[in-house]
Amino acid sequence: MGKQSKGHAIMISVPYQGHINPFINLALKLASKGFTITFAHLEFVHQKLSKAHHSGNGTEVDLFTEARESGLDIRYATINDGFPLEFDRVLNFDEYWGIILRDFASLVDEFVGKTIQSEPFIVPFLVTDAVFYPWPATIADKYDIVNVAFWTQPALVFSLSYHLDLLREKGHFPCKDNVEDEINYVPGVESINTRDLMSYFKEDGFPIILYKTLPLTFEGVKKSDFIVHNTVDEESDILSALNKYQPNYAIGPINFSKNLTTNSISKSLWSESDCTQWLESKSPGSVLYVSFGSFVHTSKQIIEEIAYGLLLSEVNFIWVIREGILNSGDTNHVLPVGFEDEIKDKGLIVPWCDQITVLSNPAVGGFLTHNGWNSTVESMWCGVPMISYPIAFEQVTNMKLVVDDWKIGIRLCDHGMSVDRKIVAEKIKSVMCGGSISKRLRQEADKVKTVMRDALETDGSSKRNFDQFVEDLEAKIA
Ligand code: UDP
Repeated sequence: MGKQSKGHAIMISVPYQGHINPFINLALKLASKGFTITFAHLEFVHQKLSKAHHSGNGTEVDLFTEARESGLDIRYATINDGFPLEFDRVLNFDEYWGIILRDFASLVDEFVGKTIQSEPFIVPFLVTDAVFYPWPATIADKYDIVNVAFWTQPALVFSLSYHLDLLREKGHFPCKDNVEDEINYVPGVESINTRDLMSYFKEDGFPIILYKTLPLTFEGVKKSDFIVHNTVDEESDILSALNKYQPNYAIGPINFSKNLTTNSISKSLWSESDCTQWLESKSPGSVLYVSFGSFVHTSKQIIEEIAYGLLLSEVNFIWVIREGILNSGDTNHVLPVGFEDEIKDKGLIVPWCDQITVLSNPAVGGFLTHNGWNSTVESMWCGVPMISYPIAFEQVTNMKLVVDDWKIGIRLCDHGMSVDRKIVAEKIKSVMCGGSISKRLRQEADKVKTVMRDALETDGSSKRNFDQFVEDLEAKIA
């Protein structure tokens, strides 16, 4: 039999792609350190994964079969959230998330109780996404187990949320529309303008449920024993400033690993189209990859401006047109009539792809992105400059990091949301077609790529932090 387990991590994943990907990778990382893992997806996520990865033959996925075959002690479970499978948890996010934060605790409580009983000789602890709080702290308290919060976004967003009382005191939470103030009083945060704050910091912001629940969530996070972050220490001094309150560890970029072949795990909620052959027919750096992630949606008019902007730029592109990309809910008439005929071999439209594989392809020279944090980090890992088009959540804050701080991207629209096809074409050309902007971005993107990769090297910051986290965790649960 294998070695003795260091402890039993009970992990419950937030049911959205941008949280699922890093969370699975955290599970693998912990398992590779000798922890037993019970990893739970919500039932509807499990059904979506099964459909995406085994459509047709009726087989259900077990995410971790290969990981187990390679010796990791990792089990897969599902929990029902009490909603019908067909309930749209994206379109009805406000209603869904409100109920999840309030009522999901009792279902998880039962699951945690049973999981602990199933392994009476291994010390259990709880690992959940930080956005699930406050209930993880309550459950950990009930079973008297350690709880670890996983923050999947940049430390900057974490710190602003952590210091909500301070922002409230200064009149910046809730944040008012059309006010542009400089915030330079948050520990570790050099400076951020109020226009770059997360969309849910506004009273009438989006999504409203996050504006309402954020204070409670962060009160809960403050009760966690450890917080791990999908970023690198090199992001800023923020985490060292936070360490005087609680132990924080930057262990990113979590979606990449030196040893684990995480790509063999079925993570995508939609079937992936293979873009490799098409990419191989294109010259290095000539393709713009366009995707707005798994969650946010936009208007038909904006899609149209981007479509014609792409055509006008004459640049090669792959565009992910995901189911649900339109805020009208229309799934049939997303692109302008005739657009797909017009692009000929210049463009490839796919419903979903393996983004990391696409970004890693040498043919890709730019990423028009909504700046979800995973997409941002994946682009940084691959050294691909970005054109930022944030839509909601913390994406505008991520754009500030990318454009103003790290200088590895440009804004699609300078301020406000209006998108014009001529400007789209101009911005695309400035990133993709040589020129001084393109050169400068590429130089900076190369530097950032090195920082990201070095962080996971033997003596890299994230490697050291993860080892330290494991050591501290072991000491705490001993
Ligand atoms: N992604 C993918 N294929 C696609 C589009 C996105 O695999 O066609 C992945 C991407 O690699 C990333 C995640 O989906 O890991 C999206 O997360 P992100 O934080 O960027 O955005 P969100 O979906 O949360 O808005």
